[in-house]
Amino acid sequence: MRVAVLSDVHANLHALEAVLREVGAGGFDAVWFLGDLVGYGPHPNECTALLQEQAALCLAGNHDLVVLGKIPIDAFAGEAAAAARWTQSVLDDDARAFLGTLEPRMAAPGAELFHGSPRDPVWEYVLGDDAAEAAFALTQAPLVLVGHSHVALEISNGDDLRGEPAPAGTQLELGRLRRLLNPGSVGQPRDGDPRAAWLEIDIAAARATFRRTDYPVELTQAEMRARGLPEALAARLAYGI
Ligand code: ZN
Repeated sequence: MRVAVLSDVHANLHALEAVLREVGAGGFDAVWFLGDLVGYGPHPNECTALLQEQAALCLAGNHDLVVLGKIPIDAFAGEAAAAARWTQSVLDDDARAFLGTLEPRMAAPGAELFHGSPRDPVWEYVLGDDAAEAAFALTQAPLVLVGHSHVALEISNGDDLRGEPAPAGTQLELGRLRRLLNPGSVGQPRDGDPRAAWLEIDIAAARATFRRTDYPVELTQAEMRARGLPEALAARLAYGI
């Protein structure tokens, strides 16, 4: 079984379509999504419908929960709040209903999935040792999958805890060590590579591969500007920051 793990689409339809084209051409068996379908980007309804149709597992992220009103919007500052308000104003009933069914954590065979972290599935970023240690301590599955930071990352729990950024093409053997993996973000990468980030897991071969996919960033930027979304949110997409 080969799984495509996606996270943090943030209503960037061009990025999501480009990744799903590769996933479709690659003959994957399942798509797992780690949350933040909406927020920041220009196509919340279309992205929600696409993943509702194509993802076998789907989590809610903090942005999804804010847009639904399950978390007060004042949890966000400035641009994130402005984008969440705009998203609330355009979100259709189908998207709202589907997002309303999602939780920020889930279990799958051999893996535990969280938007943020096992300790705080909605808000915590797993970027440092403390959060990583807690993540391994609070889970049992060989594989822990998290999103939320928008940074592709792999952390292994052997004799020592080791964590590294995971640029395009990074391959890992699974099985010997427990791993915590973050696929990075499809729709708003923040690790300096503007291409859409995702993760391939080949369960039979016990191998994980970090992938990046080109998409027309300028089309998403133009759509954000046309909708009056904050300029800084559009500008950052070109740099992957
Ligand atoms: Zn996010």
